[in-house]
Amino acid sequence: MHTLPTLSYAYEALEPHIDGLTMHVHHDKHHQAYLDKFNAALSNYPELAKLSAEDLLWHFEDQVKTSAPADIQAALKNHGGGFEHHNLFWEIMSPNGPREAVGELAAAISSKFTSFADFKTQFIDIAMKQFGSGWAWLVLDENKKLALYSLPNQDSPLLSKHYPIMGVDVWEHAYYLKYQNRRPEYLEAIWNVLDWQKIEDRYQAGLTK
Ligand code: MN
Repeated sequence: MHTLPTLSYAYEALEPHIDGLTMHVHHDKHHQAYLDKFNAALSNYPELAKLSAEDLLWHFEDQVKTSAPADIQAALKNHGGGFEHHNLFWEIMSPNGPREAVGELAAAISSKFTSFADFKTQFIDIAMKQFGSGWAWLVLDENKKLALYSLPNQDSPLLSKHYPIMGVDVWEHAYYLKYQNRRPEYLEAIWNVLDWQKIEDRYQAGLTK
């Protein structure tokens, strides 16, 4: 059984950028619901249940599609994705990390996007253009190069063996209580709580995945 991670900071710690009520509902209700449905889908598949969510999505083609029927595949893709993506989201935010890229990732971002400021502009643009629910992603692609795109719903970069370094949830539940329909304000505010040391750690993990 997978379990809900506890936050490494208080629910209110990201205020005023992400409010405590949103954090409570997002973590305690939405993330919990993905987890419960993910575990339910795994209940008759003990071999798949042994995998981490990350590995289950990474090996979806060769392990899930060969051992589960279509309805279970869909549940594992949607709820496994939802579970894993929120694990990542809580991990890459903090009340007081570096607010721009550090280490080798800083160099890689400057090389790919000219500057951190240009990267931020492109990231927000992609997140704005995601129609409806989804996520904007910074990933390491199959050649271990940085790539930037959005995906709908809980479709995971991991399904394409792309390692997610950083992602921003643009489902309305991520911002509606505080920002209502103002997705641009949310997408500006989030940069005040992203922890680029944690994102650098993910970059290093992705290079060796
Ligand atoms: Mn969410």
